[in-house]
Amino acid sequence: MNLSHKSPLGMTEVDFLKSGEERLADISRLQDLIPDLPVEALIKEDLLRLGISFSAEALRYCADFKRKSYFIFSFDMVPIDEMSQEENLSAPEEIQLIGGPWDLRRTTVSVRVNPVSPWKAIMVGDSLHLSCGDQTISGVDLQKVPEYYQETLENGQPVHEVAPTIEWGYLVYLTVYRKCQYFGFKEECRFCDINENYRQQVKAGRPYRTVKPMDEVLEGLTILDRVNSPSKAYTLTGGSVTRTLKGKGEAEFYAEYARAIEEKFPGRWIPKAVTQALPVDEQQILKDAGIRIYHPNYEIWDEKLFPLLCPGKEAYVGRSEWHRRIIESTDVFGAENVIPNFVAGIEMSRPHGFTEPEAAVESTREGLQFFMSQGVCPRFTVWCPEPLSPLVVERKGAGDIQPPAPLEYHARLLAAWRDCHKEHRLPVPPGYGPPGVGNAIFSVSSFMDVIHVPE
Ligand code: SF4
Repeated sequence: MNLSHKSPLGMTEVDFLKSGEERLADISRLQDLIPDLPVEALIKEDLLRLGISFSAEALRYCADFKRKSYFIFSFDMVPIDEMSQEENLSAPEEIQLIGGPWDLRRTTVSVRVNPVSPWKAIMVGDSLHLSCGDQTISGVDLQKVPEYYQETLENGQPVHEVAPTIEWGYLVYLTVYRKCQYFGFKEECRFCDINENYRQQVKAGRPYRTVKPMDEVLEGLTILDRVNSPSKAYTLTGGSVTRTLKGKGEAEFYAEYARAIEEKFPGRWIPKAVTQALPVDEQQILKDAGIRIYHPNYEIWDEKLFPLLCPGKEAYVGRSEWHRRIIESTDVFGAENVIPNFVAGIEMSRPHGFTEPEAAVESTREGLQFFMSQGVCPRFTVWCPEPLSPLVVERKGAGDIQPPAPLEYHARLLAAWRDCHKEHRLPVPPGYGPPGVGNAIFSVSSFMDVIHVPE
């Protein structure tokens, strides 16, 4: 390995990416440590935390399939202006790993671009494969461009800018507010790049708009419905509204979309919404508008780290109030329909986070026990340090790096989540498609992959 090679994040490769051989040795070690975790989940988590690189040939091949839509955050590990192959224009939204020496069962993974990742998409003959170091790991399937992605609204907007789908087509992702009113480094969640990603996408020429007009959202969904899109759920999401947006508070702003969609397409999709943890009367506004699944994302459990990593959430609501409102929302939506997200791995971010995976997972397990013992099933997305997020920008400014959490953290967390979910006999979280390795299509973490499904 060339130790002097600098990655686009300004760090030497050896600092955190290590060689492909070392990655595979790490996976092997973790298979011994937690033998009942499927290897598919270990590979998926490693791909999500480290990203994936593309050979030029592979990237050309990918350009004919469904591409990354940048549906909310960048979910990349380099900014667009440092993508020398313009990966932002051709990289696929998701890949499915299949077969190879480990005989992998079909595993759906969201694509996070990182040109120096040891996980690399390459061509072998006429087909796409995943490699790590000099080893071929599996075949890679891509999703065809859906029919509706080729359609435009009357005003010329491509449908996929208004109503993109992820999770292999299962979920329509409606980021109706592209920014967040937690503003600046003092308020934004420190792992989040929503506001910076907005700026870089606009600069790169994407027709991002701060607020998606209602008529365009309805027109986009009409097209999805007309072509019998296989999508089963939609998520209304975007940044927090701390004051008003278009003259409305947060609940009413998001509820208005749900109301209009449910009036036009009653029961067509499972309606979900991501908002702050709102007071009960505002939760009720969402429920009355038709929202079935409520995601009041708490991001991180740890008491000391929460205010440091989520300063806006701490300032506007506060950690214990946030948790209280999550529990209260079970009376409005039903416990199984309250599914708050946390960002797995930020417990180990520098400079304040845990340094040992075991301790980080113990802290997070406490939160899982708190919620799951009351019937609420949190889920998580895998943190990749996005280069425009405060956590990365500040470390870079200080001449340091912000590595992702180690794979051991993710392996331990998957086991903790699975065991806790089983201990409390919770149902499969609704609105995420099928569970179980080989079937799950939730692509930004493996929690659905590790749910045991009897054969
Ligand atoms: S609430 Fe936090 S995670 Fe959500 S968009 Fe705002 S800054 Fe980002």
